[in-house]
Amino acid sequence: MFNALVVNKNDEGKTSAAVQEIGLDDLPDGDVTVAVEYSTVNYKDGLCIGPGGGLVRNYPHVPGIDFAGTVEASDDPRYKAGDKVVLTGWRVGEAYWGGYAQKARVKADWLVPLPDGLDARQAMAVGTAGFTAMLAVMALEDLGIKDGPVLVTGAAGGVGSVATAILANLGHQVAAVTGRPETAEYLTSLGATQIVAREEINETTKRPLEAEAWGGCVDAVGGDMLARVLGQMQYGASVSAVGLAGGAGLPATVIPFLLRGVNLLGIDSVMQPYDNRVRAWQRIAKDLPMDKLDAMVQPATLSDLPQLGRDILKGQVKGRVVVDVNA
Ligand code: NDP
Repeated sequence: MFNALVVNKNDEGKTSAAVQEIGLDDLPDGDVTVAVEYSTVNYKDGLCIGPGGGLVRNYPHVPGIDFAGTVEASDDPRYKAGDKVVLTGWRVGEAYWGGYAQKARVKADWLVPLPDGLDARQAMAVGTAGFTAMLAVMALEDLGIKDGPVLVTGAAGGVGSVATAILANLGHQVAAVTGRPETAEYLTSLGATQIVAREEINETTKRPLEAEAWGGCVDAVGGDMLARVLGQMQYGASVSAVGLAGGAGLPATVIPFLLRGVNLLGIDSVMQPYDNRVRAWQRIAKDLPMDKLDAMVQPATLSDLPQLGRDILKGQVKGRVVVDVNA
């Protein structure tokens, strides 16, 4: 038997999450059984742990959209017992049981070998949020990052923190947008060269075009923020749209696309093909300084998760939460 955070739904449709013991026979079918070492808390996890169950597709459910650990048993020739692996995406933790357990059973196709230079804890300090930040930076690079500061919105959150550290390490000037002025020192320590108050972007003129300010943007916020940012991009610059922490609407005009050739790039970490995932993890191992990663991390255990799920939905988590499922 081993520990898992299990979410149940009662006859009235009310959900509850609690740590309980389950057995290997309870795990769903899959090719590879993994002894999970670490998982994390992402925005989606907050939705899945919280009231109503968010994106959960079946009950009882073990959330946790990512994990890293060691293969315990494998029916797939690509993996053998003892291999170190990492998983993000594929609707694990939503439609399939995820990483908030000491063991997980998944399809071999969803796994990626842990790249050289990263251990399981570091891989989960990165987690889905950091993996997505890397995909967002790679998408900007594909079309070319312009001279001038690269804007990162939702900067003190998970995606924003990792994007800030990667971009700064690559030599870009990084303008970090935050609604929490008290995180300025933290963001500067990650490499931000400029702190921009959330209101400075949100409360601009709302004209479709403003002065050309940003050479690229990783946007974790969406909504009004993304709409304003589009009109502030340099000619031909790109925005990687990652998230909707500030809203799913997009009250924008087509003018920035027509008159400034701005590119809006949608980033999806869930269904990334194997080769892209391997490439992104290798870039993370190479381009994300581990001391900066350490500065982003707060540790947690399975029993901390219900509270942390509420905190992340309120935008109150700073950086990345790493869950030691064996603690
Ligand atoms: P976090 O909660 O860690 O970070 C989000 C940050 O956005 C907050 O820390 C806050 O930053 C800012 N924020 C929150 N609410 C608002 C608001 N109302 N208006 C403006 N800013 C706000 O979440 P993650 O970084 O893990 O995820 C960010 C988004 O990206 C989520 O929507 C998530 O679902 C999405 N995502 C998408 C993925 C994909 O594949 N496309 C993968 C992973 C995440 P600050 O305090 O600095 O202002």
